[in-house]
Amino acid sequence: MPDRSFLNWPFFEDRHRELAENLDAWCAKNLPVDHHDVDMACRELVAKLGRDGWLKPTAIDPDNPAPLDVRTLCITRETLARHDGLADFAFAMQGLGTGAISLFGTRDQQRWLERTRTGQAISAFALSEPRSGSDVANMEMTAVRDGDGYVLSGEKTWISNGGIADVYTVFARTGEAPGAKGISAFIVPAETKGLGIAERLEVIAPHPLARLAFDNVRVPASVLIGKPGDGFRIAMSVLDVFRSTVGAAALGFARRALDESVRRAAERKLFGAPMAELQMVQGHIADMALDVDAAALLVYRAAWTKDTGAERVTREAAMAKLFATDKAQEVIDKAVQLHGGDGVRKGYIIESLYREIRALRIYEGASDVQKVVIARQVMGAS
Ligand SMILES: Cc1cc2nc3c(=O)[nH]c(=O)nc-3n(C[C@H](O)[C@H](O)[C@H](O)COP(=O)(O)OP(=O)(O)OC[C@H]3O[C@@H](n4cnc5c(N)ncnc54)[C@H](O)[C@@H]3O)c2cc1C
Repeated sequence: MPDRSFLNWPFFEDRHRELAENLDAWCAKNLPVDHHDVDMACRELVAKLGRDGWLKPTAIDPDNPAPLDVRTLCITRETLARHDGLADFAFAMQGLGTGAISLFGTRDQQRWLERTRTGQAISAFALSEPRSGSDVANMEMTAVRDGDGYVLSGEKTWISNGGIADVYTVFARTGEAPGAKGISAFIVPAETKGLGIAERLEVIAPHPLARLAFDNVRVPASVLIGKPGDGFRIAMSVLDVFRSTVGAAALGFARRALDESVRRAAERKLFGAPMAELQMVQGHIADMALDVDAAALLVYRAAWTKDTGAERVTREAAMAKLFATDKAQEVIDKAVQLHGGDGVRKGYIIESLYREIRALRIYEGASDVQKVVIARQVMGAS
């Protein structure tokens, strides 16, 4: 039985421990799903997770609003990622895609949440563009005021759930000021005229991903989230909540790699004895366990700090994401090594973890960007 003593750490309450146990049991029964058609797999995952209530923490309950619980999001992502990366993806995007609506939406806009929290609608977060990924404030897509609405023109790319989403949170330049202060956020239903899928993008760990084209997409002013010019602040507030959860997903992948490696070392015989008796193997296992625990401390610290009332956790979330994703990559690489040929064999869990982890060091702020954020926070505070 893998070590789960971290659940006794003081960051958690009994409700988190109960969630971890119940979700683990659910995952063992329901995951992984067949990934051959990722669109279908994601739709199935969202429907199943919604049906059984697991999507509720991804957004606020409009009838009973309370802040999003980041520890719940982290424990859920970590557990799902340990069982099936695509299930983690399906869960995470329901939160990221609606985060702006949860945090800043009107009561009317929050009607979307009734559908996304129950798995009846799929959501997406459309921030990146072909010429502005890390440099978000430089985005080119425009939203021009026209009568009682806006007209959106331009492109978004790398949009997770692009092609299967029912609703997109879209960020576009409204021009109140240059750069970051001239961006606004909009809720755009997928069927809106002029919104099209320009290209489906394939990556090493497949999930639904697309470049979106906005060809004079007309939306009413009622879909504007917050005030004109608030978009960048809204996007950063959403990332402030969800960035530590990317670290949690990485932690789930790393835990799985460690669990599999411990099992492999115990079961596999080399030179007449279990592999686990080789001291260099023990060295790898020790390094992996150390990285997993250190990453867990940073992830749970960030989540706990947010949940206990911190206005912003920019530094804590950046540290959690940077450390947990970079270290998970190293842990998984060691797992590949310990599994020998089976570590790179297609269709095997270690090989899929090796592919799954890579993008987490790029999206929601690449590792290098997190370093810049941390340095600015540290130097700004002194
Ligand atoms: C699988 C996947 C899913 C994604 N899902 C979404 C989504 O749902 N919604 C969405 O809006 N976007 C999404 N993205 C886009 C993602 O956020 C961007 O890819 C990311 O922000 C990097 O932007 P870029 O690809 O344009 O790379 P660039 O901005 O060109 O950056 C390339 C590299 O330059 C380096 N770099 C950048 N800035 C700095 C700096 N300040 N200092 C030092 N080095 C730096 C980093 O190493 C970085 O990786 C997704 C991406 C991937 C791969």
